[in-house]
Amino acid sequence: MVFADSSGNIMDFEGLAMVARSGDYLHPIGVEETISLPRGSQLYVLPDRYPIGLDRETGEIVILKENPYDGKGPVYAVASFLCAAHTNTYVAAWERDENACTLPLYAYTALGWWGDGFVTTAVRTDESMRQDPDTFDMGKVEEGIRIWKHDLPDNRLVTHLAHCAQGYGCPAALNLFQGREEGPLPTSPSCNARCVGCISLQTSCSFPSPQQRITFIPEPREIAEIALRHIMSVDEAVVSFGQGCEGEPLMVADVIREAIELIRSKTDKGTINLNTNASLPLKVAELARAGLDSMRISMNSARKETYNAYFRPQYEFNALTESAYEMKKLGKFVSINLFVFPGVTDAPKEAAALKDFIDSSGIDMVQWRNLNIDPDFYLEMLGQKIPSGMGIARLIEEIPVRRGYFNPYIKTR
Ligand code: SF4
Repeated sequence: MVFADSSGNIMDFEGLAMVARSGDYLHPIGVEETISLPRGSQLYVLPDRYPIGLDRETGEIVILKENPYDGKGPVYAVASFLCAAHTNTYVAAWERDENACTLPLYAYTALGWWGDGFVTTAVRTDESMRQDPDTFDMGKVEEGIRIWKHDLPDNRLVTHLAHCAQGYGCPAALNLFQGREEGPLPTSPSCNARCVGCISLQTSCSFPSPQQRITFIPEPREIAEIALRHIMSVDEAVVSFGQGCEGEPLMVADVIREAIELIRSKTDKGTINLNTNASLPLKVAELARAGLDSMRISMNSARKETYNAYFRPQYEFNALTESAYEMKKLGKFVSINLFVFPGVTDAPKEAAALKDFIDSSGIDMVQWRNLNIDPDFYLEMLGQKIPSGMGIARLIEEIPVRRGYFNPYIKTR
């Protein structure tokens, strides 16, 4: 196991074996269930949370309250925040102190030590290197921002996305200004859901939102300028509506439709994608007819009860299936942006519902993302007694459609 001392130094302790968590269940972790910690992942020391390990002799679970090397306290549990393209299979395990505050919106993956390095419980679900940290060149990004601002001086989206790149380090905005892969097209200041873990707007005082929501609706011209510049300069380019710095794009579907028509009047290259909560099927149908190529539906669950508890939607759950149907009717590509939470996503009823949804909606691909939320907060919020699951790694193997982490380029013409 690994733990942190009172100064935040993270160290391994051979005396206890690594233990992880799936839902409410603790699991001793063998090395075969781990991978080396991927480059670009972050390490978090978790305040007011005690590390948990396994006594190999007795098989007992041990909660570490003091540093085994010097007998001093306090000591803290640690977790990894995986870099992109990796899906967590277990959550970090800890004993929470009664005074513990809710953790911010990150995914807390189990961390351990093996041989000469950190290991974590994850699988790589996408071979695309588009967000691998050492592929970003900030020199090129800064130069890109300078050129875009010079060439498109009155395009408000350029200024907004420059802030996303320089302020948040958003990989989509970095890729845009570095002239590669998938470019972002944020458009919507509003949303018809109130996700508990919304990353662009938080009203709860438990945790802040990592990004600020866009405050204006760009013109179709501004959107098309960004999209065309990216599509015309990048091979197999993807441009995507529905980013972490906005609300729900379908709320401004008419603007998006005009932008797509503008783009498609100039070129049939590239993939135009929509990341969405898929709440408005008729609007989806309009965008598909206008030239939208692919749609990605965000969901934490294919069970209405679990979905509604998290999304708190102002629409019916079956809108998701209807929106998928509208896209498939026109032969378009549909994927799920599945917020994976070990112990919930792979629980018997959840896994069965997911398979049914994929089957009945004609889903082409599952993007296995990690749900960024305090595990204790999420499970308490769901308030369900959830039996032990089959394991995330096995679920990923069992789902019979394309797997990934990013929106793929779709060759349509
Ligand atoms: S659908 Fe997106 S923008 Fe809307 S509340 Fe959920 S995370 Fe936030």
